[in-house]
Amino acid sequence: MNVAKSFKELSASQKINAQNKIVMPGLINMHCHAADSLFRGLVEELSLEAWLQKVWVAEKAILTPETTYTGSVLGFAENLLAGVTSIMDMFWYPTEAVKAANDLGMRISTGGIFFDYPGIGNRSHEDFLQEAEKFFEDYNSNEAVFPAVMPHGSYTVSPEHLKEAKKIAAKYNGLYHIHAAETLTEQSDINERYGESVIRHLHSHGLLDQQAILAHCVHLDDTEIQLIADNESVVVHNPMSNLKLGSGIAPIDKMFEAGVTLTLGTDGAISGNDLDMWLTMRLAASLPKGNTLDPKVMNAKTVLHMATLNGAKALGKEDKLGSLEVGKIADFIFIDMDKIHAVPVFDPITHLVYSACKSDISDVFVGGKQVVKGGVICTLDINNVVEEVRALSPKIAASLV
Ligand SMILES: [Zn+2]
Repeated sequence: MNVAKSFKELSASQKINAQNKIVMPGLINMHCHAADSLFRGLVEELSLEAWLQKVWVAEKAILTPETTYTGSVLGFAENLLAGVTSIMDMFWYPTEAVKAANDLGMRISTGGIFFDYPGIGNRSHEDFLQEAEKFFEDYNSNEAVFPAVMPHGSYTVSPEHLKEAKKIAAKYNGLYHIHAAETLTEQSDINERYGESVIRHLHSHGLLDQQAILAHCVHLDDTEIQLIADNESVVVHNPMSNLKLGSGIAPIDKMFEAGVTLTLGTDGAISGNDLDMWLTMRLAASLPKGNTLDPKVMNAKTVLHMATLNGAKALGKEDKLGSLEVGKIADFIFIDMDKIHAVPVFDPITHLVYSACKSDISDVFVGGKQVVKGGVICTLDINNVVEEVRALSPKIAASLV
């Protein structure tokens, strides 16, 4: 198809003035726990394992379907205002997350969680299986929802349960999202329990394939990187959360060299404190340079692809999302170029990755519908949600006392 010609042939019912703006595809945040925004700042300066013990206590005291909805709106709204149009979210009560994303006008990938310890609502593994299956039944044909199963990790879910979750995903051709190889403690724990590292463990149970989306992958040896590449699994790099929890720096330059599909995520606001894909991009492009003493690794264009096209590919939607092309869905954002830090600009791509920030996003469109206008959400009144969270915050603070 001749793209230039087909653009001319298009007629528009609405014209939008994008003078002094960069127009680009919406960002795809591939790892978040949006409702954890309720707990931002509550548990600080601990390593992942000690931190999780406190997080789970706070979540158990506070989370109901209603508060999960409120927290999800809070977290998704921050993402949407920062130019994220599709998000992968792992959390309790996934149908509440879907409601929140729908109300804001975003696309979401989520689904039934799996967790072997007493979690929220004291659900059993059988309950998780039923909920995961029902999620696919309810949302498999929804254009704005990409159903998945979400086993928390190989240190919180047994191999048998990991495989049962996979069976459901496979039945519906759905995605399989899991935390993997985030810390050295996790690696030694899995080694002790099963005699193999996390990635080898997932592989030996048949869990690495194109549908597997692995959050973190900070601690990997060369064989594990090759295993991920050979099985065409996806890695979500979450540099802010990894740095703040003292987990480490993921070897994304090595994974890139090996041909792994790399995507980006913010993780939840309780670990990274900021649901900011622009900061994430800047860290993804800069950390490997400092680590390798080579400023040429992970260039800006590669990192921009990680935040857009690669996310679309991971979701199985590269024919519809991730770039601005005729025939794709109109998920796009405007970046304000009237800011002091946007003068002068010699290369828009390096500007986006190294200089732009989330407050530069002026307008957001999802499926052609405007959802953010002039930096304000148009789909719902976010002030009501802010007030609800303020009212809830004394109870949240007391949850760890
Ligand atoms: Zn996470």
